[in-house]
Amino acid sequence: MFEKEIEELKSFNINPSKQRVLVLNYLNEHSDKHNTVDDIFKAFRDNDTKLSLATIYNTISLFKREGLISNVTLPSGEVKYERDRSNHIHFECRKCGEIYNMKMELSDNFLKEYNDFTIESKYVLLRGLCPNCQD
Ligand SMILES: [Zn+2]
Ligand SMILES: [Zn+2]
Repeated sequence: MFEKEIEELKSFNINPSKQRVLVLNYLNEHSDKHNTVDDIFKAFRDNDTKLSLATIYNTISLFKREGLISNVTLPSGEVKYERDRSNHIHFECRKCGEIYNMKMELSDNFLKEYNDFTIESKYVLLRGLCPNCQD
């Protein structure tokens, strides 16, 4: 059980303690979502596997530092975490609050125009209504 998570942690040189395996398993099982520390905390509270908020917070910080997960910071200040580390931008629905991943490459024209800049990361957040919330 949790062999996948144990292997993943080892491949990032993280000691696979029980809490880390459980938190990573949650993120893998909810890989279509962007999760707050609180989301993860509540899931474990309801599951009667007791993980303290501090434990989850520390575990998420470690995962982020080691590059196992990425995060999106919303204008509200809320920070959400996900396993998907691919190159993508985010769309936040103003009605249901859902966060969607969207693929967006910087165009050749853009890169040519700003070729004297070294771009190291990209944080783009689009907002509006998702397909489920149109009228
Ligand atoms: Zn929506
Ligand atoms: Zn995302």
